[in-house]
Amino acid sequence: MKKIIIIVIILLIIIIGGIVIYMTNNDNKLKKLGYNDKEIKEISRLSSNEIDIILNNDYTDKLIDIVTNGNYQDKNLKDYLAYANNHKKANINDVINIVNKGLTDYKYSPLLGDLITQKYFIQENLERYLKYGGKNAEKVISEVNSNLDYPYYENVKEADTSKDNLIIVNKYYNLTSDYEPSDLVTLTSTYSFGTNNKMRKEAADAFMEMADAAKLDNIIIRNASAYRSYTYQETLYNNYVQRDGKESADTYSARAGYSEHQTGLATDINEVSEAFENTDAFRWLNDNADKYGFILRYPKNKENLTGYKYEPWHYRYVGKDIAKTIKDENITYEEYYAYYIDHK
Ligand SMILES: [Zn+2]
Repeated sequence: MKKIIIIVIILLIIIIGGIVIYMTNNDNKLKKLGYNDKEIKEISRLSSNEIDIILNNDYTDKLIDIVTNGNYQDKNLKDYLAYANNHKKANINDVINIVNKGLTDYKYSPLLGDLITQKYFIQENLERYLKYGGKNAEKVISEVNSNLDYPYYENVKEADTSKDNLIIVNKYYNLTSDYEPSDLVTLTSTYSFGTNNKMRKEAADAFMEMADAAKLDNIIIRNASAYRSYTYQETLYNNYVQRDGKESADTYSARAGYSEHQTGLATDINEVSEAFENTDAFRWLNDNADKYGFILRYPKNKENLTGYKYEPWHYRYVGKDIAKTIKDENITYEEYYAYYIDHK
């Protein structure tokens, strides 16, 4: 019995002694690397794995900021240290975010750090953001997501008609000359005037529901121009070019194939005039259009993103949920499409 107790005590001494030697050994090594007592105390809280990594790296004055950062992930410690050491100007939040996103191949810049924390950041657009450049990351992302790093009518892709109600048509996505929606229906004179009175079925139903609801508030809403064929748009645009010149016409009229009206999902309401903004009908639409799935497609102060001047009369059907998101987040359809549809 005595023997066993002695053996246990000896074993305990060996184990404790071993731990003490191991710990003081680490402490000494850390001290040699340049860490002070306060830092060593903080480091000693880490796992032996993490401590090994620290011991195998040069001293960094940013270490404690790294391991105490809210987004710190222990599996990335090695990469944080390497990136911080290679990019001394990078602040720690940026280092953590860049490594967490696996972007260590990118050279540090404050823009890179800002870009990756933005809501509408799309990783596969990163090269384009950086090339586009600028100081305001939010602006860079809005503009590049809207394809503004390319001139209008260049780098054009065919619009994806399989997206149905969510199709985008603008100065970067066009429709072929033979595209005509298969489910166009005609709005009656209660809901429309003029000859461009067709919309796709779901959009037409939503439009009539909206007009009926407006009527209950003594507001008259009627379509002035909805579906327009490729050839119709071609004539329209050419007439504008003859009258005002191409440069001017491009700010307010779409070239054939580039008009949202060819989708059968757009409607110009009541009067095609900026004065429409000052009507009760406009104010009603501003408050209610999203409830019926419509968005103001070419808003004020977003002209560069949409490629069109402010058009208070032009509404686009996208469905209720998406219309609400676009309104709540105060973004254009270009921004919505890039972030929520094209890259998800
Ligand atoms: Zn329009």
